Amino acid sequence: MSTPQHLILVSHDQEGHATGLLPAEADAPQLSVLDASVTRGDGVFETISVGSGHPQALDAHLDRFARSARMLDLPEPDAGLWGDAVHAIAEALAGHEEAWVKTVISRGIEGGSTPTGWAYGSVSPDFRRERTEGVAVALLDRGLRSDVAETAPWLLAGAKTLSYAVNKAAVREAQRRGADDALFVSSDGLLLEGPTSTLIVLHDRALVTPPAALGILPGTTQHDLFSAARDWGLDARVDVLRPDDLRTAESAWLVSSLRLAAPIRAVDGAATPVDAGLTAAMNGFLRSRRS
Ligand code: PLP
Repeated sequence: MSTPQHLILVSHDQEGHATGLLPAEADAPQLSVLDASVTRGDGVFETISVGSGHPQALDAHLDRFARSARMLDLPEPDAGLWGDAVHAIAEALAGHEEAWVKTVISRGIEGGSTPTGWAYGSVSPDFRRERTEGVAVALLDRGLRSDVAETAPWLLAGAKTLSYAVNKAAVREAQRRGADDALFVSSDGLLLEGPTSTLIVLHDRALVTPPAALGILPGTTQHDLFSAARDWGLDARVDVLRPDDLRTAESAWLVSSLRLAAPIRAVDGAATPVDAGLTAAMNGFLRSRRS
């Protein structure tokens, strides 16, 4: 049986206002070769997990979609219409325990002013191994200082843009070093985020994550985990972290919407402790979210 795929085009007018939703063939050509998404990666996106038909953390994803759009001077996405598109695709995928919907908005055809938008969804890959056995990470220099968001906002650090070639290259470099995933470090030595995930470290019974002000994406998964920390008898706080903090941590995770909480089992080849019980509790909580 082929993998289910669902596509809804989100049409816009020349002023950048969303005008309607149009279900379309997911495996038929839809995009112009002149679209800024493909010619320049000039647009923003979100990937939203769907649990048995329920989009998870949808409001937080739509807020971040709008935040990224603002950072690129794109028109404000219409939260109502985009939410309807995500719900429609999520319902079509209700027969699957874990699925996802990606929302994309680009600057549109070069030279024009009409954004291109679409929402596409399908079934999630199987992440059981990463969630239980964990991931080995390689620390990679991002080459940007931790104040980049303030000093060079045009670098769009912390926006979820369509330009993920660098993030993909980082994962390949991590794999060349014998790891599964990368963890970026600022050029002035602060831990940042993974190429597609947020870092959470457990220290003295507190979950700690680096501040978004360092030019990293504010994670929706991290946010939800922090809201549940009390249930696990833990505090939660945002704080700067350095590589040494990883080496002394009681446990650490890379968390994201689809893979959920993947415990870090090694850093640059040195084994680090995995808290299997807490990881299972985190993933159980994340999978049970119904909004
Ligand atoms: N940081 C980056 C760079 C990401 O691409 C992602 C998700 O794709 C995350 C963090 C985690 O965000 P979320 O938990 O909202 O999926």
